[in-house]
Amino acid sequence: MQRAWPAGTAAAAAAITHLALGAPPASAAATIDDIRVGGVDIHVELEPRAFRDGGAAAREWIRRSASIVSGYYGRFPTTRLTVRVIAEAGDGVHGGKSFANPDALIRVQVGREVSGTQLLADWVLVHEMTHLALPDTGEEHAWLSEGLATYVEGVARVQAGNRSEADVWAEEIRQMPRGLPQADDRGLDHTHTWGRTYWGGAMFCLLADVEIRTQTHNRLGLQDALRAVARASSGLTSDWPIERVLRTGDGAVGTTTLEDLYAQMKDRPVTPDLMRLWQQLGIEPAGSSVRLSDSAPLADLRRAIMRAP
Ligand SMILES: [Zn+2]
Repeated sequence: MQRAWPAGTAAAAAAITHLALGAPPASAAATIDDIRVGGVDIHVELEPRAFRDGGAAAREWIRRSASIVSGYYGRFPTTRLTVRVIAEAGDGVHGGKSFANPDALIRVQVGREVSGTQLLADWVLVHEMTHLALPDTGEEHAWLSEGLATYVEGVARVQAGNRSEADVWAEEIRQMPRGLPQADDRGLDHTHTWGRTYWGGAMFCLLADVEIRTQTHNRLGLQDALRAVARASSGLTSDWPIERVLRTGDGAVGTTTLEDLYAQMKDRPVTPDLMRLWQQLGIEPAGSSVRLSDSAPLADLRRAIMRAP
């Protein structure tokens, strides 16, 4: 499944997967049981009668998503989590929101007729669980949390064998240009459009990943920086200034990439040559997909991004 961001307004997109820092809505669902994945207790709230299989496929989806995110971060980003499944009319996964007050909670809306295939191809829950690994840096920096969740979702699923590498790069080639600055842009911290928040943030992550790997001779990448941030904080349940997040990540990989990129991009429109970057990584558009070339100058780096450490 391709990421089905609504093509409409920033507000519409924000309503789907945006972090919500207020109180979560009260539960209307019955608790069915807890799942333990890689050291984390996931408390699942869903109404078994809402699903034909009693919620078995949804439980498996929650377990799989947690395992994907645990693989990327080396462990699940929080020690406890509640996943509240809201059954709605129709099929598919309709959206999700992450809360942290005080414990981590993810609320996801799922169609009663959802199929196993749809759950296998879902990106929403991995996106939401990725939010749990980053401290709350404030609304002004939503581009960092949404950008990371957008970027990490694809990489983490490739590393877990849940999505193809070509599919992820094809989506980035199609969507990331929406993250480039428009005429009235004032930098990532001051331009809160949908495109800049989700794909401008994801672009920051891709540039950082490539730069960290270039500077460390491909020994380390953004993933190592993010693991360090998750380890040093309690993830979303802690409040950190963005500078501390970036400094912690940089310290773990021995570069100043994140801080330098932030200094360049926070207050000013920066327009990198994305097509040239993808060419160097060995990614060429081919119809609705891409062709990957292993002889491109940065092909090793591209493969390392998608390889589980
Ligand atoms: Zn989000």
